Amino acid sequence: MVKRCAYGLCKSDSRYPKSLSGVVVFFPFPKPETQLERCLQWIKRCGRPHSQLNVSKINKHTYVCSKHFLNGKLTLEYPNPVVAVQVLNQTREQLGASRKPPKHRESRATPTPWMSTGKRA
Ligand SMILES: [Zn+2]
Repeated sequence: MVKRCAYGLCKSDSRYPKSLSGVVVFFPFPKPETQLERCLQWIKRCGRPHSQLNVSKINKHTYVCSKHFLNGKLTLEYPNPVVAVQVLNQTREQLGASRKPPKHRESRATPTPWMSTGKRA
């Protein structure tokens, strides 16, 4: 069965292991029948709209991948994924636009004299 990550805009998918950077482990969502509180926590932390992710959508094929856990691990100390940072309020374009190439720093081409005295601290 294909495992897919339910977290934010994450595209981790067990079908395409090559597209995953590093080793990604899929953790099954807590079941609402047995762990409702924790299940709700996870849903909240995934940051998806209610229509996309809610208790009725959780089944044994719902996973969150290890990218969203502290150190990539699910531990007793940190049993929940980290909180998604409003990923859904941003479009893909906006996310991409934040990675602008650095601007030309022409000022660095002419070192200021007072900085090149050769003195070392
Ligand atoms: Zn993921």
